[in-house]
Amino acid sequence: MNPLETPSFQSRLPQVGTTIFTVMSALAAEHQAINLGQGFPDFPCDRGLIADVNAAMLADQNQYPPMTGVAELRNGVSKKIKNLYGHHYNPDTEITITAGGTQAIFTAILSCVGPGDEVIIIEPAFDCYRPAIDLAGGKTIAISLQVVRDESGQVAAYEIPWDLLANAINPKTRLILINTPHNPTGMIWDKSDLDHLAALVRNTSACILSDEVYEHMVYDGATHHSVASHPELAARSFLVSSFGKTFHVTGWKVGYIAAPPSLTKEFRKVHQFNVFAVNTPMQFGLASYLSEEKHYLDLPAFYQAKRDFFRAGLNQTKFKLLPTLGSYFQCADYSALGIPQAKLNEADFCKWLTTEIGVAAIPVSAFYDQPTESGVIRFCFAKQERTLANALLRLQTL
Ligand code: GLN
Repeated sequence: MNPLETPSFQSRLPQVGTTIFTVMSALAAEHQAINLGQGFPDFPCDRGLIADVNAAMLADQNQYPPMTGVAELRNGVSKKIKNLYGHHYNPDTEITITAGGTQAIFTAILSCVGPGDEVIIIEPAFDCYRPAIDLAGGKTIAISLQVVRDESGQVAAYEIPWDLLANAINPKTRLILINTPHNPTGMIWDKSDLDHLAALVRNTSACILSDEVYEHMVYDGATHHSVASHPELAARSFLVSSFGKTFHVTGWKVGYIAAPPSLTKEFRKVHQFNVFAVNTPMQFGLASYLSEEKHYLDLPAFYQAKRDFFRAGLNQTKFKLLPTLGSYFQCADYSALGIPQAKLNEADFCKWLTTEIGVAAIPVSAFYDQPTESGVIRFCFAKQERTLANALLRLQTL
C-alpha cells in the first residue's frame, strides 16, 4: 500500500449525503436567491439578549460550566415548563442543557437505543432522526402521516396514522419519536392526540422522544400540548427544545432536554463524553433573558403576523397552501401551477425555483427515507416582512 494513501473503511452512514438544509442554503447563496429554505430567522435577536451574554463574558463567566448546564439556566427552564405545562422537572436531576436540539436528540437516541431495538418515526420526519438511530445500531420503523387530499387531488392536510402506529408498537420498541409543532407540515398535536399516544404505550416499555423545538410557534389561539402537560407521557419522555428557535439565535446552538431522573441519568452518561458541557456565557445570558416571561409569551403573535402575511401573499399565486397551525414553516402544493415545471419532482422543483425564480425552498421528499413525492415544498417564514414581500413578488410571477 502507498504509505501516503488514506486507509478506507466501510461508511457508518452509507446512504447519507449532505443535509438538504445545507445544500439548499449553499444553492441559494450561489444564485443570490431569497433563502426561504433552511429554517432560521433573517432578523436580529434582541439586543438585550446580546447584552446579557456580554455581561456574563465581562463578568468572567468563561470557564467550563457544570456538565449538566449552569444552575440558573436549568432553574429557568424548569420554571418555564412548570408555568406553561404544569409539570415540575427537578433542575438537578431532570434538566440538561445541550448544544442545540440536534445534539439533544442524537444523545438521547444513543443513550437508550442499542442493537435489536426498534425506534418508530413518523414521516415526513426531520432528517437527523434516522442517522442517529442507525449509528446507535437500532432499527428505524418509519410510518407515514396520512396525506388527506381534496377533490382536486391536492394535499389538504396531514393526519396521525394511529392504526399504523398501534401496529408498529411491539416489545422491541424502545423509542417513539414525535414532533409537535411539526417540521415540515406545521401540524400540531392536540390533547386528544397525547391521550391516544399514552393509551398506545401504556403497559409497554417504549419511551418517547418529543421534539418540541417550535413550542412557542402556535397560531390562532391554539395551545402547544407538550408531553410535559401529560403526566403519563412525561413519565416516559425525553422533551427537547431549542433556545436557537425560541430566541432567534440558531447559530448559538443551545437547547435543553427534560426527562425523568432515570432517563436523564443515562442521557448524561453519553452527554458528558460527547460535548461535556455547553458554552458558559451563552447559558448565563439565556438564563437572565428567560427570566422575563414576555420573551417567550409574545412569540406566537410575533410569528402569526409573519405567517398571515406570507399566506396572504401566497394566496395570490396558484400554489395551494396547506394549513400551518404551528412551526415557522409553510407547506405549499405546486402541482396545479400550470407550468411545465409543476411536473418536476420536489427536489428538482426546489432547485429550479432557487436558480430561476430566486426563492429557495425545501422539498418535503427530503423528510422521507423512501422516495415519496406529493408535489409539496416547504417555505420558512421566519423572515423580515421585506424579505417575505420580495420573495412573494417573485413567486407571484409563477
Ligand atoms: N431545523 C431547521 C430546518 O428544518 C434546520 C436545522 C439544520 O439545518 N440542521 O430547516
